[in-house]
Amino acid sequence: MKLVVRNGTHGRGVFTEEPISDGTRIIRFSGPFLRYAETSPTTYALQIGPDLYIGASGGPDDYINHSCEPNAGLRIAGTTVDLYAIRDIATGEELSFDYSTTLDEDDFTMSCQCCTPSCRGTIRDGKYLPYDVWQRYVALGIVPEYVQRSRAALA
Ligand SMILES: [Zn+2]
Repeated sequence: MKLVVRNGTHGRGVFTEEPISDGTRIIRFSGPFLRYAETSPTTYALQIGPDLYIGASGGPDDYINHSCEPNAGLRIAGTTVDLYAIRDIATGEELSFDYSTTLDEDDFTMSCQCCTPSCRGTIRDGKYLPYDVWQRYVALGIVPEYVQRSRAALA
C-alpha cells in the first residue's frame, strides 16, 4: 500500500497514493505496548485494551487522523491491530478512523473539527457513541470487545 504522511487540511495526516477497495487491510499498527500510566496527552498512544496502549512506531500509523465519517476502521484481535478500509477509498484521499471506536478511558475528550455533516463536535469514549453510529460500527467489526463490554455495562 503506497501511503504518504503530509500536511492536509487538519495538520499532518496519511494519504493514499493508490485506490483502496472496501474491506482491504491497509496497515498493521506497531509500536511499544504501554499501560495507561505510561501514556500522556502528547504521546501518539492508541488504546487497544482496557489498560493497554500501542505507542508511536515512527511510521504512518502514528499520523492517521480522526474523522466522524471515517473511510477506515481498526480491527483489534489481542495485540494485533489492523486498519481496514470500510468503503472504497480514492487515490489522494486522506485516511481516517473514528477515534471513539477504541476509546474507553472515561476522562478523555477531544474537540473535533472534521467538518463532516455528522461531526459530533466532541470525541468521547466509544460507549457514548450515538446509537445509529454505534450499530453501524459494530456491524463493520470495528468496535473492539472491551469497548462493547463497557457499553453493555452502562445499560
Ligand atoms: Zn468530527
